[in-house]
Amino acid sequence: IEGRVVVVGGGSGGATTARYLKHHAPELEVTLIEPNESYYTCYGGNWYLGGFRELRTLRHGYHTLRDDYGIEVIHDRARDIDLDGHRVVTAENGRISYDRLVVAPGIAFDWDRVEGMDGDDTIAVPHAWWGGAQYSILRGQIEAMEDGGTVVICPPDGPYRCPPGPYERMSLIAHYLKQHKPRAKVLALDPKDSFSKQGLFEEAWEALYGDMIEWVPAKEGGKPERIAVRERKVFTDGGDAEHRADVLNVIPPQKAGAIAERAGLTDEGGWCPVDQRTFRSTRHDDVYVVGDAAVAGDMPKSGHAANNQAKLVAASIVSELRGHEVPGFPMVNTCYSLAAPDWGVTVAAVYEYRDGEMRSVEGAGGLSPEGASREFRAREADYAPGWYASITRDIFG
Ligand code: FAD
Repeated sequence: IEGRVVVVGGGSGGATTARYLKHHAPELEVTLIEPNESYYTCYGGNWYLGGFRELRTLRHGYHTLRDDYGIEVIHDRARDIDLDGHRVVTAENGRISYDRLVVAPGIAFDWDRVEGMDGDDTIAVPHAWWGGAQYSILRGQIEAMEDGGTVVICPPDGPYRCPPGPYERMSLIAHYLKQHKPRAKVLALDPKDSFSKQGLFEEAWEALYGDMIEWVPAKEGGKPERIAVRERKVFTDGGDAEHRADVLNVIPPQKAGAIAERAGLTDEGGWCPVDQRTFRSTRHDDVYVVGDAAVAGDMPKSGHAANNQAKLVAASIVSELRGHEVPGFPMVNTCYSLAAPDWGVTVAAVYEYRDGEMRSVEGAGGLSPEGASREFRAREADYAPGWYASITRDIFG
């Protein structure tokens, strides 16, 4: 087959798509547009905050995709997409034409929904919800904090990237503090009343951290109303209660990466609607959206889900270009969360296309059992780095 597929965004979804396009059809021209020469995963980022993984081990380059797979990797930013003209407008490399386009820009932050702060404040108040630099800022602040200080975390309202992520973060920051600043605390002020793997996290918190961790749900006045960046304060409970943080980690509400919105691929909720059988955009033919930016039914916004969606899209594009029937296959997500280096809990699910959406298959997944032994938790924790090694190899080669 002839033709050129351009992929915008070289993260979990985009890099996998490029790689699998070349795997199925080495003769296809595949161009990956990604501004950064190194990609830092968010997964494993909380391990780094917990003090038991180096940041540099979460960094991945594009040399294997370029040298071994023959993917054209352009380090540039897509500024716009001319959908009718089938061209991506880049900052420095002009216009790049495509026959099929894959958009995988991940998330942007919806600062309009955060009162008192915006993107310029994220050095003082890091979100650490993009990989790399943001994580080292947050870690540096935690290391510099006095013993007896309070780390305040504001998790976002849904839908957001990595549903259990804020709660794994609370656990692993507490793990670090327990060893280095045992009088310090972690306080979460949440706009929600419940969260992913809640029972499992609460069991771990009680066993490992006692009153070092406090989680305040919306129904008990936890919903942040306003942030005061300079004073590092969070106002909750309709603005009546104030909480002073020594380290403040505000994880803002999210929407699809900016380029998707700019190209008109998003809906009123800020995410990209797709035909969930193929992940083709419902806004424009010849355009596919994978990863966090897409509306994907029951599938969570995770790296594992993005990686699976990418494989479906690569197979769909190649089949379509070859004039074959588009395959359609079930997908999987597994997600490991650590409450301590030797305490892991997981969730796994299988998804199939049913009634117009990707829906979980009943009985095909599950959560770690509650009340399991320490040995069981330790074994699950042992699997987590194995999952990391295999998924990053599958994404970056
Ligand atoms: P990304 O991986 O963010 O990639 C998007 C890429 O697009 C970026 O490289 C960006 O530079 C690029 N880009 C953006 N705009 C443009 C543009 N205009 N032009 C060109 N390129 C552009 N997932 C799991 O499966 N398991 C886990 O254990 C897990 N843990 C997590 C823990 C935390 C704390 C967090 C925050 C996330 C975690 N995730 C986990 C979720 C995972 O990181 C994301 O779901 C995943 O990275 C989504 O992939 P993506 O390709 O959609 O976006």
